[in-house]
Amino acid sequence: MSASAQPLEPEFQQAHDEVVASLKDSTLFKKAPKYQKVLPVVAVPERIIQFRVAWEKDNGEQEVATGFRVQYNSAKGPYKGGLRFHPTVNLSILKFLGFEQVFKNALTGLDMGGGKGGLCVDLKGRSDSEIRRICYSFMRELSRHIGPNTDVPAGDIGVGAREAGYLFGAYRHFQNRWEGVLTGKGLNWGGSLIRPEATGYGVIYFTEAMIEYATKGKESFKGKRVVVSGSGNVAQYAALKIIELGGTVVSLSDSKGSVIFENGVTPEQIAAVQEAKVKFMSLEQILGAYDAFKAGGHKYIPGARPWTHVGSVDIALPCATQNEVSGSEAEHLIKSGVKFVAEGSNMGCTQEAVHAFENARAGASSNDTIWYVGGKASNLGGVLVSGLEMAQNSQRLTWTAADVDKELKRGMINCFKDSLNAAQKYSNESNQNTLPSLVKGANLASFIKVADA
Ligand code: GLU
Repeated sequence: MSASAQPLEPEFQQAHDEVVASLKDSTLFKKAPKYQKVLPVVAVPERIIQFRVAWEKDNGEQEVATGFRVQYNSAKGPYKGGLRFHPTVNLSILKFLGFEQVFKNALTGLDMGGGKGGLCVDLKGRSDSEIRRICYSFMRELSRHIGPNTDVPAGDIGVGAREAGYLFGAYRHFQNRWEGVLTGKGLNWGGSLIRPEATGYGVIYFTEAMIEYATKGKESFKGKRVVVSGSGNVAQYAALKIIELGGTVVSLSDSKGSVIFENGVTPEQIAAVQEAKVKFMSLEQILGAYDAFKAGGHKYIPGARPWTHVGSVDIALPCATQNEVSGSEAEHLIKSGVKFVAEGSNMGCTQEAVHAFENARAGASSNDTIWYVGGKASNLGGVLVSGLEMAQNSQRLTWTAADVDKELKRGMINCFKDSLNAAQKYSNESNQNTLPSLVKGANLASFIKVADA
């Protein structure tokens, strides 16, 4: 059944159907029928704001695009979620992201509702001052709909530290107030330590908890080969943490192609990517321009995602964007020896890929299993530290990096435990020798938290 009054919203429908399938394919409604009536209610956003964003380009021409904020659900607290500035942005994608965010935020254990917003625009090739004019125009309208106790946006794809700065400056300008209305702020104007690292580190902390549980504490990231997609903020910090823990990161990618590092990417190479990405350089351009890549040892594959180009691997982390692992790529990964899959991106796996991983899990014996978790659990580190940034802003205090990192790790481990417990409690699977379904567990645990609220 369509969950939307709109004609075609494939991404939203996919995200919605995944949650509904998890709930129906469990014992939840048998054990607690009251939850059934919540299902159609949480599927509909409380409010969608759609507005004109017009700005002057550097060459004097006028450009205009449509801005959105989907205020999805505020049962657990102020709407919270990022802003995406990207040419693919449309209402279906923002509704899927907002819907996921409601459940993801509930799993953080903090009191936050869920929302998402964005603008269909390509920032590549635009000057700093044009990007500032875009952000000011966006915030001119959005500023009247948000506030520290109403709706607290953050970054997402296309909205990094620079854009957050322009957006926050614009809010102060239009509302004449300094307040914690945005997270992911710079450190000297209300930001939190570890916020840039949080999503990537969080994926790794979650995956560590999976590995530890599945191997009864015998294994960790040490010695593991990890295929990572993406090269933005999430992929960068995930890769750095994997290297710190003794693993090998065998790939990075962007929308134009993949780089395969047979012996692993180095921290120096990741530092070069970090510097170049702010200038909108592609991976192919970065390989040619930075000394860190002079020694070779890598291969660039244009137009490809990394999944089928990496040989044998232990762990796969999609960290780029939605639907970036197809069913056949998932089958290939399974054959390549992958044992753990955790999404740094939101809905990184297609439905076919999820089925492939879930079938492999359910069919395997506990020694030879494969474990998959969706982004709403494994990538919630970013919004979790956003919640901590809101707390610091309210306290007018800055916590130490060690304190934030400790809370992040604790939150990720709690999220793992909550998902695992819900999966076990509401499982209707007859084969109890396999690992429980973490993807279902995360959907169940988060749905119950939102429904109770
Ligand atoms: N955009 C991030 C996400 O998908 C972070 C949102 C936030 O910090 O509010 O979870």
